[in-house]
Amino acid sequence: MSNGVPTNGDSAETHTASQRYLSTRGEDTGFSFEEVVLKGLANDGGLYIPEQVPTAEGWETWKDLSFVDLAFNILSLYISPAEIPADDLKDIIRRSYATFRADDVTPLVHLQDNIHLLELFHGPTFAFKDVALQFLGNLFEYFLVRRNEGKTGRDRYHLTVVGATSGDTGSAAIYGLRGKKDVSVFMLHPKGRVSPIQELQMTTVLDPNVHNLAVEGNFDNCQDIVKALFADPEINKTHKLGAVNSINWARILAQTVYYFYSYFTLARQQGDSFTVGDKVRFAVPSGNFGDILAGYFAFRMGLPVDKLVIATNENDILDRFWKTGRYEKKPTYGQAAQGGLPADGVKAHEDGVKETLSPAMDILVSSNFERLLWFLAYEFASDAGMDDEWNKRQAGQEVAAWLGDLKTKGGFGPVYRGVLDAARRTFESERVSDPQTIDTIRSVYQAVGYVLDPHTAVGVEAARHQEQQNKPQSTLPIISLSTAHPAKFAGAVTLALQDEPGFEFDAKVLPAEFVGLEQREKRVRDVENAWTAVREVVRKEVEVELASKEY
Ligand SMILES: *Cc1c(COP(=O)(O)O)cnc(C)c1O
Repeated sequence: MSNGVPTNGDSAETHTASQRYLSTRGEDTGFSFEEVVLKGLANDGGLYIPEQVPTAEGWETWKDLSFVDLAFNILSLYISPAEIPADDLKDIIRRSYATFRADDVTPLVHLQDNIHLLELFHGPTFAFKDVALQFLGNLFEYFLVRRNEGKTGRDRYHLTVVGATSGDTGSAAIYGLRGKKDVSVFMLHPKGRVSPIQELQMTTVLDPNVHNLAVEGNFDNCQDIVKALFADPEINKTHKLGAVNSINWARILAQTVYYFYSYFTLARQQGDSFTVGDKVRFAVPSGNFGDILAGYFAFRMGLPVDKLVIATNENDILDRFWKTGRYEKKPTYGQAAQGGLPADGVKAHEDGVKETLSPAMDILVSSNFERLLWFLAYEFASDAGMDDEWNKRQAGQEVAAWLGDLKTKGGFGPVYRGVLDAARRTFESERVSDPQTIDTIRSVYQAVGYVLDPHTAVGVEAARHQEQQNKPQSTLPIISLSTAHPAKFAGAVTLALQDEPGFEFDAKVLPAEFVGLEQREKRVRDVENAWTAVREVVRKEVEVELASKEY
Protein backbone atom coordinates (compact mmCIF):
# COMPACT_ATOMS: atom_id res chain seq x y z
CA MET A 1 0.00 0.00 0.00
CA SER A 2 3.01 2.29 0.40
CA ASN A 3 2.42 4.60 -2.54
CA GLY A 4 -0.94 3.24 -3.54
CA VAL A 5 -3.04 5.72 -1.61
CA PRO A 6 -4.45 8.48 -3.76
CA THR A 7 -3.78 11.93 -2.38
CA ASN A 8 -6.38 13.46 -4.59
CA GLY A 9 -9.41 12.26 -6.46
CA ASP A 10 -7.66 11.79 -9.76
CA SER A 11 -5.07 9.14 -9.02
CA ALA A 12 -7.36 6.39 -7.82
CA GLU A 13 -6.22 4.00 -10.57
CA THR A 14 -3.03 3.37 -8.60
CA HIS A 15 -5.07 2.18 -5.66
CA THR A 16 -4.92 -1.57 -5.09
CA ALA A 17 -6.94 -2.30 -1.96
CA SER A 18 -9.10 -5.38 -2.09
CA GLN A 19 -10.80 -5.25 1.24
CA ARG A 20 -12.79 -8.24 2.49
CA TYR A 21 -14.92 -8.51 5.61
CA LEU A 22 -15.35 -11.09 8.36
CA SER A 23 -17.88 -11.62 11.14
CA THR A 24 -17.01 -10.83 14.75
CA ARG A 25 -18.27 -14.30 15.70
CA GLY A 26 -15.89 -16.05 13.38
CA GLU A 27 -18.05 -18.09 11.04
CA ASP A 28 -18.50 -15.78 8.08
CA THR A 29 -15.42 -14.55 6.18
CA GLY A 30 -14.45 -13.26 2.77
CA PHE A 31 -17.38 -10.92 2.19
CA SER A 32 -17.31 -8.00 -0.21
CA PHE A 33 -18.28 -4.48 0.80
CA GLU A 34 -21.51 -4.72 -1.20
CA GLU A 35 -22.55 -7.95 0.53
CA VAL A 36 -21.79 -6.48 3.91
CA VAL A 37 -23.78 -3.33 3.26
CA LEU A 38 -26.83 -5.10 1.88
CA LYS A 39 -26.84 -7.89 4.48
CA GLY A 40 -26.18 -5.77 7.59
CA LEU A 41 -25.90 -8.67 10.05
CA ALA A 42 -23.73 -11.78 9.50
CA ASN A 43 -25.29 -15.26 9.34
CA ASP A 44 -23.75 -16.26 12.68
CA GLY A 45 -25.36 -13.22 14.33
CA GLY A 46 -22.08 -11.27 14.40
CA LEU A 47 -21.19 -7.90 12.93
CA TYR A 48 -18.96 -7.33 9.94
CA ILE A 49 -15.49 -5.83 10.32
CA PRO A 50 -12.70 -5.42 7.76
CA GLU A 51 -10.21 -8.30 7.69
CA GLN A 52 -7.42 -5.72 7.87
CA VAL A 53 -7.74 -2.17 9.15
CA PRO A 54 -5.85 -0.20 6.50
CA THR A 55 -3.13 2.25 7.43
CA ALA A 56 -3.82 5.72 6.07
CA GLU A 57 -0.39 6.12 4.45
CA GLY A 58 0.44 9.74 3.81
CA TRP A 59 -2.57 10.99 5.77
CA GLU A 60 -0.58 14.05 6.93
CA THR A 61 -0.76 15.40 3.40
CA TRP A 62 -4.57 15.39 3.46
CA LYS A 63 -4.76 18.42 5.75
CA ASP A 64 -6.20 20.91 3.27
CA LEU A 65 -8.58 18.61 1.42
CA SER A 66 -12.29 19.39 1.29
CA PHE A 67 -14.61 17.11 3.26
CA VAL A 68 -15.62 15.29 0.07
CA ASP A 69 -12.04 14.74 -1.15
CA LEU A 70 -10.95 13.58 2.28
CA ALA A 71 -13.92 11.23 2.51
CA PHE A 72 -12.98 9.80 -0.86
CA ASN A 73 -9.40 9.07 0.24
CA ILE A 74 -10.53 7.40 3.45
CA LEU A 75 -13.38 5.38 1.99
CA SER A 76 -11.17 4.20 -0.90
CA LEU A 77 -9.10 2.31 1.65
CA TYR A 78 -12.12 0.16 2.48
CA ILE A 79 -13.96 -0.06 -0.84
CA SER A 80 -11.96 -1.47 -3.72
CA PRO A 81 -12.34 0.25 -7.11
CA ALA A 82 -13.28 -3.15 -8.53
CA GLU A 83 -16.44 -2.87 -6.42
CA ILE A 84 -17.19 0.81 -6.91
CA PRO A 85 -15.17 2.61 -9.58
CA ALA A 86 -13.44 5.72 -8.24
CA ASP A 87 -15.58 8.18 -10.19
CA ASP A 88 -18.77 6.55 -8.97
CA LEU A 89 -17.62 6.54 -5.36
CA LYS A 90 -16.67 10.17 -5.61
CA ASP A 91 -20.07 11.00 -7.04
CA ILE A 92 -21.90 9.10 -4.27
CA ILE A 93 -19.91 10.99 -1.64
CA ARG A 94 -20.44 14.33 -3.32
CA ARG A 95 -24.20 13.86 -3.52
CA SER A 96 -24.40 12.60 0.08
CA TYR A 97 -22.88 15.76 1.51
CA ALA A 98 -24.42 18.26 -0.89
CA THR A 99 -27.54 18.04 1.29
CA PHE A 100 -25.72 19.58 4.27
CA ARG A 101 -26.33 23.22 5.11
CA ALA A 102 -22.70 23.95 6.13
CA ASP A 103 -20.14 24.37 3.35
CA ASP A 104 -17.57 22.43 5.33
CA VAL A 105 -20.20 19.76 6.24
CA THR A 106 -19.01 19.25 9.84
CA PRO A 107 -17.69 22.56 11.22
CA LEU A 108 -15.50 22.79 14.31
CA VAL A 109 -16.09 25.66 16.75
CA HIS A 110 -14.09 26.58 19.82
CA LEU A 111 -16.30 26.29 22.92
CA GLN A 112 -14.20 27.11 25.97
CA ASP A 113 -10.72 26.34 27.33
CA ASN A 114 -9.33 23.37 25.43
CA ILE A 115 -12.72 22.17 24.29
CA HIS A 116 -13.77 22.35 20.64
CA LEU A 117 -17.20 21.32 19.42
CA LEU A 118 -17.54 19.26 16.30
CA GLU A 119 -20.97 20.18 14.92
CA LEU A 120 -22.38 17.10 13.23
CA PHE A 121 -25.94 18.37 12.94
CA HIS A 122 -25.97 20.34 9.69
CA GLY A 123 -27.63 17.57 7.69
CA PRO A 124 -31.31 17.32 6.67
CA THR A 125 -32.64 16.09 10.04
CA PHE A 126 -30.34 18.14 12.28
CA ALA A 127 -28.57 15.19 13.94
CA PHE A 128 -25.31 13.34 13.44
CA LYS A 129 -26.97 10.22 12.03
CA ASP A 130 -27.40 12.11 8.75
CA VAL A 131 -23.66 11.90 8.11
CA ALA A 132 -23.93 8.12 7.80
CA LEU A 133 -27.47 7.73 6.50
CA GLN A 134 -27.20 10.19 3.63
CA PHE A 135 -24.28 8.09 2.40
CA LEU A 136 -25.97 4.74 3.12
CA GLY A 137 -29.11 5.74 1.20
CA ASN A 138 -27.07 6.60 -1.88
CA LEU A 139 -25.06 3.40 -1.56
CA PHE A 140 -28.21 1.27 -1.43
CA GLU A 141 -29.55 2.97 -4.51
CA TYR A 142 -26.24 2.58 -6.35
CA PHE A 143 -26.02 -1.16 -5.66
CA LEU A 144 -29.68 -1.77 -6.49
CA VAL A 145 -29.72 0.17 -9.72
CA ARG A 146 -26.57 -1.65 -10.80
CA ARG A 147 -28.08 -5.06 -9.99
CA ASN A 148 -31.16 -4.05 -11.95
CA GLU A 149 -29.41 -2.98 -15.11
CA GLY A 150 -31.42 -4.17 -18.10
CA LYS A 151 -34.28 -5.40 -15.91
CA THR A 152 -37.74 -3.97 -15.85
CA GLY A 153 -40.86 -4.21 -13.74
CA ARG A 154 -41.14 -7.21 -11.42
CA ASP A 155 -37.71 -8.55 -12.37
CA ARG A 156 -36.04 -5.68 -10.58
CA TYR A 157 -34.47 -6.37 -7.20
CA HIS A 158 -36.55 -4.29 -4.80
CA LEU A 159 -35.38 -3.68 -1.25
CA THR A 160 -37.91 -3.20 1.53
CA VAL A 161 -36.27 -1.49 4.49
CA VAL A 162 -38.11 -2.01 7.77
CA GLY A 163 -37.12 -0.32 10.99
CA ALA A 164 -38.35 0.77 14.40
CA THR A 165 -37.55 4.16 15.86
CA SER A 166 -38.07 6.12 19.02
CA GLY A 167 -37.03 9.27 17.18
CA ASP A 168 -33.63 10.07 15.73
CA THR A 169 -32.80 7.08 13.56
CA GLY A 170 -36.20 7.12 11.90
CA SER A 171 -36.05 10.60 10.47
CA ALA A 172 -32.42 10.27 9.40
CA ALA A 173 -33.18 6.96 7.65
CA ILE A 174 -36.24 8.43 5.95
CA TYR A 175 -34.27 11.41 4.68
CA GLY A 176 -31.51 9.05 3.55
CA LEU A 177 -33.90 6.87 1.53
CA ARG A 178 -36.64 9.22 0.34
CA GLY A 179 -37.12 9.14 -3.40
CA LYS A 180 -34.47 6.46 -3.94
CA LYS A 181 -35.02 3.99 -6.75
CA ASP A 182 -35.82 0.33 -6.02
CA VAL A 183 -36.19 0.78 -2.29
CA SER A 184 -39.18 1.26 0.01
CA VAL A 185 -38.85 2.24 3.64
CA PHE A 186 -41.29 1.38 6.43
CA MET A 187 -40.57 3.14 9.69
CA LEU A 188 -42.51 2.09 12.78
CA HIS A 189 -42.83 4.50 15.68
CA PRO A 190 -44.86 4.26 18.87
CA LYS A 191 -47.91 6.42 18.28
CA GLY A 192 -47.84 9.64 20.30
CA ARG A 193 -44.63 8.71 22.08
CA VAL A 194 -42.08 10.37 19.83
CA SER A 195 -41.13 14.00 20.42
CA PRO A 196 -43.36 16.31 18.35
CA ILE A 197 -40.50 17.64 16.21
CA GLN A 198 -39.18 14.18 15.49
CA GLU A 199 -42.63 12.90 14.59
CA LEU A 200 -43.19 15.82 12.22
CA GLN A 201 -39.77 15.35 10.64
CA MET A 202 -40.83 11.84 9.67
CA THR A 203 -44.47 12.29 8.75
CA THR A 204 -44.08 15.38 6.57
CA VAL A 205 -41.99 13.43 4.08
CA LEU A 206 -44.41 12.64 1.27
CA ASP A 207 -42.30 10.60 -1.17
CA PRO A 208 -44.25 7.52 -2.31
CA ASN A 209 -41.49 5.15 -1.15
CA VAL A 210 -41.67 6.40 2.45
CA HIS A 211 -44.19 4.75 4.78
CA ASN A 212 -44.64 5.94 8.35
CA LEU A 213 -46.47 3.48 10.54
CA ALA A 214 -47.75 4.67 13.93
CA VAL A 215 -48.06 1.60 16.16
CA GLU A 216 -50.58 1.46 18.99
CA GLY A 217 -47.96 0.56 21.57
CA ASN A 218 -44.51 1.44 22.85
CA PHE A 219 -41.06 1.36 21.26
CA ASP A 220 -40.41 -2.21 22.40
CA ASN A 221 -43.59 -3.32 20.61
CA CYS A 222 -42.30 -1.67 17.43
CA GLN A 223 -38.97 -3.46 17.75
CA ASP A 224 -40.69 -6.79 18.35
CA ILE A 225 -42.75 -6.35 15.19
CA VAL A 226 -39.63 -5.63 13.14
CA LYS A 227 -37.86 -8.67 14.60
CA ALA A 228 -40.88 -10.87 13.83
CA LEU A 229 -40.90 -9.66 10.22
CA PHE A 230 -37.21 -10.42 9.74
CA ALA A 231 -37.78 -13.90 11.18
CA ASP A 232 -40.89 -14.61 9.06
CA PRO A 233 -40.23 -17.05 6.18
CA GLU A 234 -43.32 -15.84 4.29
CA ILE A 235 -42.40 -12.22 3.83
CA ASN A 236 -38.78 -13.19 3.26
CA LYS A 237 -39.93 -15.33 0.33
CA THR A 238 -41.69 -12.45 -1.41
CA HIS A 239 -39.76 -9.37 -0.22
CA LYS A 240 -36.09 -8.59 0.23
CA LEU A 241 -35.95 -7.03 3.66
CA GLY A 242 -33.20 -4.58 4.50
CA ALA A 243 -32.08 -2.83 7.67
CA VAL A 244 -30.49 0.54 8.30
CA ASN A 245 -29.73 0.25 12.00
CA SER A 246 -26.44 1.34 13.45
CA ILE A 247 -24.81 -2.06 13.04
CA ASN A 248 -24.51 -1.47 9.28
CA TRP A 249 -20.79 -1.24 8.51
CA ALA A 250 -21.24 1.59 6.00
CA ARG A 251 -22.53 3.81 8.79
CA ILE A 252 -19.38 3.31 10.88
CA LEU A 253 -17.19 3.83 7.85
CA ALA A 254 -18.83 7.13 6.86
CA GLN A 255 -18.33 8.42 10.39
CA THR A 256 -14.54 7.86 10.43
CA VAL A 257 -14.22 10.79 8.04
CA TYR A 258 -15.15 13.52 10.52
CA TYR A 259 -12.53 12.36 13.00
CA PHE A 260 -9.84 13.10 10.42
CA TYR A 261 -11.59 16.18 9.13
CA SER A 262 -12.01 17.79 12.57
CA TYR A 263 -8.39 17.02 13.38
CA PHE A 264 -7.28 18.88 10.26
CA THR A 265 -9.70 21.74 10.90
CA LEU A 266 -8.20 22.12 14.36
CA ALA A 267 -4.71 22.20 12.87
CA ARG A 268 -5.75 24.92 10.43
CA GLN A 269 -7.50 26.95 13.14
CA GLN A 270 -4.70 26.68 15.70
CA GLY A 271 -1.88 27.66 13.39
CA ASP A 272 1.54 27.32 15.01
CA SER A 273 0.30 26.01 18.33
CA PHE A 274 -0.87 22.73 16.86
CA THR A 275 1.02 20.74 14.26
CA VAL A 276 -0.22 17.79 12.28
CA GLY A 277 1.11 14.82 14.26
CA ASP A 278 0.17 16.27 17.67
CA LYS A 279 -2.31 14.33 19.74
CA VAL A 280 -5.94 15.17 20.52
CA ARG A 281 -8.69 13.66 22.62
CA PHE A 282 -12.24 13.09 21.47
CA ALA A 283 -15.27 13.08 23.77
CA VAL A 284 -18.26 11.24 22.32
CA PRO A 285 -21.82 11.05 23.71
CA SER A 286 -22.47 7.35 23.31
CA GLY A 287 -25.36 4.91 23.16
CA ASN A 288 -24.96 2.10 20.66
CA PHE A 289 -21.21 2.79 20.38
CA GLY A 290 -21.35 3.46 16.64
CA ASP A 291 -20.13 7.03 16.70
CA ILE A 292 -17.12 6.44 18.95
CA LEU A 293 -16.26 3.18 17.22
CA ALA A 294 -15.62 5.20 14.06
CA GLY A 295 -13.06 7.16 16.10
CA TYR A 296 -11.41 3.88 17.04
CA PHE A 297 -11.04 2.98 13.37
CA ALA A 298 -9.57 6.43 12.66
CA PHE A 299 -7.10 5.80 15.47
CA ARG A 300 -6.13 2.39 14.13
CA MET A 301 -5.65 3.93 10.70
CA GLY A 302 -3.06 6.28 12.14
CA LEU A 303 -4.82 9.41 13.44
CA PRO A 304 -2.91 10.66 16.53
CA VAL A 305 -5.57 10.08 19.17
CA ASP A 306 -4.51 10.34 22.80
CA LYS A 307 -7.76 8.96 24.18
CA LEU A 308 -11.35 8.45 23.09
CA VAL A 309 -13.60 9.50 25.94
CA ILE A 310 -16.89 7.60 26.14
CA ALA A 311 -19.65 9.76 27.62
CA THR A 312 -22.75 7.87 28.72
CA ASN A 313 -25.93 9.05 30.37
CA GLU A 314 -27.49 7.07 33.21
CA ASN A 315 -27.76 4.08 30.88
CA ASP A 316 -24.16 3.36 31.70
CA ILE A 317 -23.33 -0.20 30.69
CA LEU A 318 -20.24 1.06 28.86
CA ASP A 319 -19.02 3.15 31.78
CA ARG A 320 -19.44 0.17 34.09
CA PHE A 321 -17.42 -2.03 31.74
CA TRP A 322 -14.49 0.37 31.77
CA LYS A 323 -14.62 0.62 35.55
CA THR A 324 -15.11 -3.08 36.37
CA GLY A 325 -14.35 -5.21 33.31
CA ARG A 326 -17.88 -6.58 33.53
CA TYR A 327 -20.43 -6.00 30.78
CA GLU A 328 -23.83 -6.52 32.34
CA LYS A 329 -27.34 -5.34 31.59
CA LYS A 330 -27.85 -4.71 35.30
CA PRO A 331 -25.14 -3.85 37.79
CA THR A 332 -24.79 -6.61 40.35
CA TYR A 333 -25.86 -6.01 43.91
CA GLY A 334 -22.26 -5.76 45.15
CA GLN A 335 -21.38 -3.00 42.72
CA ALA A 336 -24.54 -1.11 43.51
CA ALA A 337 -23.56 -1.09 47.18
CA GLN A 338 -20.25 0.49 46.20
CA GLY A 339 -22.05 3.40 44.64
CA GLY A 340 -22.39 2.13 41.10
CA LEU A 341 -26.15 2.63 40.98
CA PRO A 342 -27.76 6.01 40.52
CA ALA A 343 -30.19 7.14 43.17
CA ASP A 344 -31.58 10.01 41.18
CA GLY A 345 -35.04 8.57 40.72
CA VAL A 346 -35.18 8.29 36.94
CA LYS A 347 -37.96 6.26 35.39
CA ALA A 348 -37.01 2.72 34.50
CA HIS A 349 -38.66 0.46 31.95
CA GLU A 350 -39.36 -3.13 32.84
CA ASP A 351 -36.22 -4.24 31.03
CA GLY A 352 -34.02 -1.70 32.79
CA VAL A 353 -33.63 1.05 30.17
CA LYS A 354 -33.95 4.44 31.84
CA GLU A 355 -35.69 7.37 30.22
CA THR A 356 -33.27 10.28 30.33
CA LEU A 357 -33.01 13.76 28.88
CA SER A 358 -30.72 12.35 26.18
CA PRO A 359 -33.12 9.74 24.73
CA ALA A 360 -31.01 8.82 21.68
CA MET A 361 -28.55 7.29 24.14
CA ASP A 362 -31.13 5.34 26.14
CA ILE A 363 -29.95 1.79 25.52
CA LEU A 364 -29.55 -1.31 27.62
CA VAL A 365 -26.68 -2.80 25.61
CA SER A 366 -24.50 -1.13 22.98
CA SER A 367 -24.73 -3.18 19.80
CA ASN A 368 -21.52 -1.91 18.19
CA PHE A 369 -19.46 -2.65 21.27
CA GLU A 370 -19.18 -6.18 19.88
CA ARG A 371 -16.88 -4.84 17.19
CA LEU A 372 -14.49 -3.34 19.71
CA LEU A 373 -14.59 -6.57 21.72
CA TRP A 374 -13.33 -8.42 18.67
CA PHE A 375 -10.32 -6.13 18.36
CA LEU A 376 -9.57 -6.37 22.08
CA ALA A 377 -9.74 -10.17 21.95
CA TYR A 378 -7.62 -10.16 18.79
CA GLU A 379 -4.89 -8.04 20.39
CA PHE A 380 -4.96 -10.25 23.45
CA ALA A 381 -4.66 -13.39 21.34
CA SER A 382 -1.80 -11.85 19.36
CA ASP A 383 0.34 -11.84 22.49
CA ALA A 384 0.46 -15.63 22.32
CA GLY A 385 2.76 -15.40 19.30
CA MET A 386 0.75 -17.63 16.96
CA ASP A 387 -0.13 -16.80 13.36
CA ASP A 388 -2.69 -14.24 12.32
CA GLU A 389 -5.28 -16.78 11.31
CA TRP A 390 -5.15 -18.37 14.75
CA ASN A 391 -5.51 -14.94 16.40
CA LYS A 392 -8.58 -14.19 14.35
CA ARG A 393 -10.12 -17.54 15.14
CA GLN A 394 -9.48 -17.04 18.84
CA ALA A 395 -11.02 -13.57 18.72
CA GLY A 396 -14.15 -14.87 16.99
CA GLN A 397 -14.57 -17.67 19.54
CA GLU A 398 -14.07 -15.33 22.46
CA VAL A 399 -16.62 -12.84 21.14
CA ALA A 400 -19.14 -15.60 20.44
CA ALA A 401 -18.74 -16.86 24.02
CA TRP A 402 -19.11 -13.39 25.54
CA LEU A 403 -22.18 -12.55 23.50
CA GLY A 404 -23.64 -15.95 24.32
CA ASP A 405 -23.30 -15.18 28.03
CA LEU A 406 -24.79 -11.74 27.51
CA LYS A 407 -27.82 -13.35 25.95
CA THR A 408 -28.30 -16.25 28.36
CA LYS A 409 -27.01 -14.75 31.63
CA GLY A 410 -27.48 -11.03 31.09
CA GLY A 411 -23.78 -10.26 31.13
CA PHE A 412 -20.19 -11.49 31.05
CA GLY A 413 -16.89 -10.76 32.72
CA PRO A 414 -14.78 -9.70 34.33
CA VAL A 415 -12.78 -10.08 31.14
CA TYR A 416 -9.07 -10.96 31.26
CA ARG A 417 -6.89 -8.22 32.70
CA GLY A 418 -5.06 -7.92 29.37
CA VAL A 419 -8.33 -7.26 27.55
CA LEU A 420 -9.39 -4.56 29.99
CA ASP A 421 -5.92 -2.99 29.90
CA ALA A 422 -6.14 -2.80 26.11
CA ALA A 423 -9.55 -1.14 26.38
CA ARG A 424 -8.20 1.40 28.86
CA ARG A 425 -5.18 2.25 26.73
CA THR A 426 -7.36 3.80 24.06
CA PHE A 427 -10.56 4.75 25.90
CA GLU A 428 -11.66 6.46 29.08
CA SER A 429 -15.23 6.66 30.24
CA GLU A 430 -17.47 9.14 32.02
CA ARG A 431 -21.07 8.84 33.19
CA VAL A 432 -23.22 11.98 33.23
CA SER A 433 -26.55 12.23 35.07
CA ASP A 434 -29.63 14.19 34.01
CA PRO A 435 -29.04 16.95 36.62
CA GLN A 436 -25.44 17.30 35.38
CA THR A 437 -26.73 17.50 31.81
CA ILE A 438 -29.04 20.39 32.70
CA ASP A 439 -26.26 22.14 34.66
CA THR A 440 -23.93 21.85 31.70
CA ILE A 441 -26.42 23.31 29.23
CA ARG A 442 -26.96 26.20 31.62
CA SER A 443 -23.36 26.91 32.57
CA VAL A 444 -22.09 26.75 29.00
CA TYR A 445 -24.84 29.14 27.96
CA GLN A 446 -23.97 31.52 30.79
CA ALA A 447 -20.25 31.37 30.01
CA VAL A 448 -20.22 31.63 26.21
CA GLY A 449 -23.84 31.96 25.03
CA TYR A 450 -23.81 28.65 23.13
CA VAL A 451 -26.89 26.42 23.38
CA LEU A 452 -26.04 22.71 23.67
CA ASP A 453 -28.48 19.92 23.00
CA PRO A 454 -28.71 17.42 25.91
CA HIS A 455 -26.71 14.68 24.14
CA THR A 456 -23.94 17.09 23.29
CA ALA A 457 -24.04 18.34 26.88
CA VAL A 458 -23.27 14.82 28.11
CA GLY A 459 -20.14 14.84 25.95
CA VAL A 460 -19.11 18.34 27.00
CA GLU A 461 -19.54 17.51 30.68
CA ALA A 462 -17.34 14.44 30.19
CA ALA A 463 -14.74 16.63 28.44
CA ARG A 464 -14.81 19.20 31.23
CA HIS A 465 -14.45 16.54 33.87
CA GLN A 466 -11.41 15.22 32.06
CA GLU A 467 -9.87 18.69 31.99
CA GLN A 468 -10.54 19.24 35.67
CA GLN A 469 -8.81 16.05 36.61
CA ASN A 470 -5.68 17.98 35.81
CA LYS A 471 -3.71 15.17 34.34
CA PRO A 472 -0.62 16.02 32.29
CA GLN A 473 -2.59 15.37 29.11
CA SER A 474 -5.33 17.78 30.14
CA THR A 475 -3.59 20.50 28.16
CA LEU A 476 -4.32 18.57 24.97
CA PRO A 477 -7.10 19.88 22.78
CA ILE A 478 -10.30 17.93 23.19
CA ILE A 479 -12.81 17.65 20.37
CA SER A 480 -16.27 17.07 21.78
CA LEU A 481 -18.80 15.69 19.32
CA SER A 482 -22.04 17.64 19.00
CA THR A 483 -24.59 15.10 17.89
CA ALA A 484 -27.82 17.07 17.59
CA HIS A 485 -29.21 20.56 17.12
CA PRO A 486 -30.75 21.85 20.38
CA ALA A 487 -34.10 22.55 18.70
CA LYS A 488 -34.71 18.80 18.42
CA PHE A 489 -34.77 18.49 22.19
CA ALA A 490 -36.76 21.53 23.17
CA GLY A 491 -37.89 20.06 26.50
CA ALA A 492 -34.44 19.65 28.02
CA VAL A 493 -33.13 22.91 26.59
CA THR A 494 -36.11 24.86 27.93
CA LEU A 495 -35.79 23.19 31.31
CA ALA A 496 -32.17 24.33 31.51
CA LEU A 497 -32.52 27.84 30.13
CA GLN A 498 -36.03 29.09 30.84
CA ASP A 499 -34.87 31.30 33.72
CA GLU A 500 -31.95 32.84 31.85
CA PRO A 501 -32.52 36.53 31.26
CA GLY A 502 -33.28 37.23 27.63
CA PHE A 503 -33.46 33.56 26.64
CA GLU A 504 -36.20 32.79 24.18
CA PHE A 505 -36.39 29.38 22.54
CA ASP A 506 -38.02 30.49 19.29
CA ALA A 507 -35.64 33.38 18.76
CA LYS A 508 -32.44 31.75 20.01
CA VAL A 509 -32.72 28.13 19.02
CA LEU A 510 -35.44 27.31 16.49
CA PRO A 511 -34.12 27.01 12.92
CA ALA A 512 -36.23 28.35 10.07
CA GLU A 513 -36.66 24.79 8.75
CA PHE A 514 -38.73 23.84 11.81
CA VAL A 515 -41.09 26.79 11.63
CA GLY A 516 -44.51 25.87 10.30
CA LEU A 517 -43.72 22.16 10.22
CA GLU A 518 -46.97 21.31 11.99
CA GLN A 519 -49.02 22.97 9.24
CA ARG A 520 -47.47 20.85 6.52
CA GLU A 521 -49.21 17.89 4.91
CA LYS A 522 -48.51 14.61 6.68
CA ARG A 523 -48.51 10.99 5.61
CA VAL A 524 -48.75 8.40 8.37
CA ARG A 525 -50.83 5.27 8.82
CA ASP A 526 -52.02 3.92 12.16
CA VAL A 527 -51.43 0.20 12.62
CA GLU A 528 -52.36 -2.26 15.34
CA ASN A 529 -49.74 -3.68 17.60
CA ALA A 530 -49.64 -7.00 15.72
CA TRP A 531 -46.86 -8.06 13.37
CA THR A 532 -49.16 -9.90 10.97
CA ALA A 533 -51.21 -6.74 10.52
CA VAL A 534 -48.02 -4.80 9.77
CA ARG A 535 -47.01 -7.51 7.30
CA GLU A 536 -50.25 -6.95 5.40
CA VAL A 537 -49.66 -3.22 5.27
CA VAL A 538 -46.11 -3.73 3.98
CA ARG A 539 -47.31 -6.11 1.26
CA LYS A 540 -50.12 -3.83 0.12
CA GLU A 541 -48.11 -0.64 0.05
CA VAL A 542 -45.14 -2.20 -1.76
CA GLU A 543 -47.62 -3.57 -4.29
CA VAL A 544 -49.09 -0.12 -4.87
CA GLU A 545 -45.61 1.31 -5.31
CA LEU A 546 -44.47 -1.35 -7.76
CA ALA A 547 -47.67 -1.06 -9.79
CA SER A 548 -47.04 2.64 -10.34
CA LYS A 549 -43.39 2.30 -11.43
CA GLU A 550 -42.46 2.84 -15.04
CA TYR A 551 -38.98 1.36 -14.94
C1 LIG B 1 -27.70 8.10 18.00
C2 LIG B 1 -27.32 9.29 18.79
C3 LIG B 1 -26.29 9.26 19.76
C4 LIG B 1 -25.55 7.98 20.11
O1 LIG B 1 -24.72 7.50 19.10
P1 LIG B 1 -24.25 5.97 19.10
O2 LIG B 1 -23.59 5.76 17.80
O3 LIG B 1 -25.51 5.16 19.25
O4 LIG B 1 -23.33 5.78 20.26
C5 LIG B 1 -25.98 10.42 20.42
N1 LIG B 1 -26.65 11.57 20.18
C6 LIG B 1 -27.63 11.63 19.27
C7 LIG B 1 -28.34 12.93 19.09
C8 LIG B 1 -28.01 10.53 18.56
O5 LIG B 1 -28.99 10.59 17.66
